[in-house]
Amino acid sequence: MKTNNLNFDIAVIGGGSAGMAAALKASEGGAKVVLIERENRLGGILNQCIHNGFGLSYFKEELTGPEYAGRFIKKVEESNITVLLNTTVLSFENEYVLNILNKDGLQQIKAKSIILSMGCRERPPASISLCGTRPAGVISAGSAQKMINIYGKMIGKNVVIVGSGDIGLIMARRLHYEGAKVLGVYEILPHPSGLKRNIAQCLTDYNIPLHLSKTVVEVVGKDRVEGVIVAPVKNDFSFDLTKKEFIPCDSVVLSIGLVPENDLAESAGVNQNPITNGALVDEHLQTNLKGVFSCGNVLHVHDIVDNVTKEAERAGENACKYIMSSLNTSCPFFIKNGFGVRYTSPQKFYKGDGILTVNFRVSNIFENATIVVKTNSKEIRRIEKRILLPAEMETVIIAKKNIEEDIEILIETK
Ligand SMILES: Cc1cc2nc3c(=O)[nH]c(=O)nc-3n(C[C@H](O)[C@H](O)[C@H](O)COP(=O)(O)OP(=O)(O)OC[C@H]3O[C@@H](n4cnc5c(N)ncnc54)[C@H](O)[C@@H]3O)c2cc1C
Repeated sequence: MKTNNLNFDIAVIGGGSAGMAAALKASEGGAKVVLIERENRLGGILNQCIHNGFGLSYFKEELTGPEYAGRFIKKVEESNITVLLNTTVLSFENEYVLNILNKDGLQQIKAKSIILSMGCRERPPASISLCGTRPAGVISAGSAQKMINIYGKMIGKNVVIVGSGDIGLIMARRLHYEGAKVLGVYEILPHPSGLKRNIAQCLTDYNIPLHLSKTVVEVVGKDRVEGVIVAPVKNDFSFDLTKKEFIPCDSVVLSIGLVPENDLAESAGVNQNPITNGALVDEHLQTNLKGVFSCGNVLHVHDIVDNVTKEAERAGENACKYIMSSLNTSCPFFIKNGFGVRYTSPQKFYKGDGILTVNFRVSNIFENATIVVKTNSKEIRRIEKRILLPAEMETVIIAKKNIEEDIEILIETK
C-alpha cells in the first residue's frame, strides 16, 4: 500500500465492480488514480454472489460473481492504480480533500476529481414497519447470503422470505440447495420485484411458491422465530386481516429493497434524486458538484452487473476529461419522465454530437407497449416492447445531433 504521496488526479470511493471499472478507465486515460475500499479486498457485493449469471453481456460468458470480480481485480493489480484496502472514506470537502480512516489513523487525500461508487445497503425491517417481537431468526437476504456463502453457516431450517427482489429469489434457491425448506416468498405488490429469469430459475424450478399481493404482517416468537402471520394485500395496500393465517417457521429472510449508500455524498452537498436515493447526474454522470461523478448501485440500483461496469467506465472516462478540462457542459437540456416512467438516469444532457445513453425504469407492468422519446416539436425514437417490467432496467440510446430542447421519455400503450 503506497500512502506516502496522497495527491491524486482521481479518487474512486468503493472498490466493487463500479469502482474497479471506473478506476481502470481513468487510469487508462492517463490519470493518477487511487481506489479506496473499506473491506479487506476488492470486489464488493460480487464476492458473496457465488451463483452464476454474471457477465453475459460484457464478457459474453456466464460467470459467478467472484469470477467476474476476479477479472477486474487482476487488471487493477496490473495497473498503476494505488489501492487502499481496509480504508474508509469518512467525508470529503470542497475541491477535493477526502478524510480517510485506516490502521494508520486519520489521513487526508487530495484529488482533482472524485468518483462515487459506494454501492448500496439493504433496507432494514423498520422500513416496512414489520410488526411483532424481534426474536433471533430475522435476517436480511444479503446478510443471509454472507453467512452461508462466506462464513459457511446455515441460518435456519424452515424459512419464509419477505419480498421478491433478486436477492430474495437467489437466497430462496440457495437455502433450498443447503437443505432448508423454503415455505414461500411473499410479495406485497401484485407483480414480482425481481428479474423474470430469477423467478424461473430460483423459484419455479424448485417448486418454491411465490405469493403475490400477500405479505407478512407479524413475526411471532420470543427468543427464536416461531412463525409469521401472513395476510392478503388489498388494492389500497391495506391488509385483509379477515384472511390472515399463521405459517410456522424458524427464520424470516427480508428482501425488501436496497438503498444507495449515499450519506457521504449527501453531507458533501451532492443533490439527490428522491426517487432513486442516488445522485442527480448529467449525461457525463457528473453530479451538481463539479468533478464529482457517480456510478453503479450508489447512483441507482442496477439489476445486472454488466450495466454497472459499462456505466462506471463512462464515469472513469469523463472524470479524465474533467481533469483535462475537455468535458462539454455548455447548453444543458433536461430529460423529463413522461407517462409510465418512474425515473431516468441521467436527468440532464448537453447540446452536441455523439450519443446519449439513458437508463430508466417503468412504474408499472406494460404489455405490447412502445417507448417513445420526443421533444415538444418532434418524435425522436420509438421502440416497440412486448413487455416492460418495473424490475428490469431499460436503456435507450439517442443520437444527440439536432436536439435543441428538453426531451421526454414516455410509455405509449395500445
Ligand atoms: C444478492 C445479489 C445478487 C445479484 N445477482 C446478480 C446476477 O446474477 N447477475 C448480475 O449481473 N448482477 C447481479 N447482481 C447485481 C450486481 O452484483 C451489482 O449491481 C453490482 O455488483 C454492484 O456493484 P457496485 O460496485 O455498484 O456496488 P458494491 O459491489 O456494493 O461495491 C461498493 C463498494 O464500496 C465500498 N464502500 C462503501 N462505502 C465506502 C466508504 N465510505 N469508503 C470506502 N469504501 C466504501 C463497499 O465496501 C463495497 O465494496 C446481484 C446483486 C446482489 C446484491
